[in-house]
Amino acid sequence: MGGNLGNSAKIFEQAIRKLTENGVQSIRQSRIYRTAPVDCVPGTPDFSNAALTGEWTGTATDLLALTQQLEREAGRPARHSSRESRTLDLDLILFGGECFDSPALTLPHPRARQRLFVLEPLAEIAPEMRFPDTGESVAEALARLRTEAEA
Ligand code: ADP
Ligand code: MG
Repeated sequence: MGGNLGNSAKIFEQAIRKLTENGVQSIRQSRIYRTAPVDCVPGTPDFSNAALTGEWTGTATDLLALTQQLEREAGRPARHSSRESRTLDLDLILFGGECFDSPALTLPHPRARQRLFVLEPLAEIAPEMRFPDTGESVAEALARLRTEAEA
């Protein structure tokens, strides 16, 4: 989850409630991380980010439809560019051991492993979870990205 417009803590809480109401079970959430914007126009407010894990019995495509509906309900315009200011961004990072590639959905999320703002919150709640394409764990991906960032 990410966002940098409005009360992110409230918006995230509401999104989690709606995910639960719509069938996502056993949700666990990280704390909220504040990060300076990356690749955004000057003056962009800081982002809040958090990671969730949960159980879902439907398909990944069904879950994406739900997350996109919640983004719209949080007031996010349907058309926007990436990393533009937004109330709610709900991305699917990993979906069990599934690899998937269509214009609407790529799993694992193609940019997750380059983003500290994804890996740090995810490592807090699911360090052992593995990227099925490389076999790397979330904790290992985070350690690697931190080393690269220092270089
Ligand atoms: P970003 O999350 O990179 O800032 P957007 O939220 O604007 O960008 O997403 C752009 C498109 O990415 C969405 O329309 C969605 O169909 C597609 N997409 C592809 N893979 C995923 C994924 N794993 N999770 C969420 N959206 C995805
Ligand atoms: Mg997104």
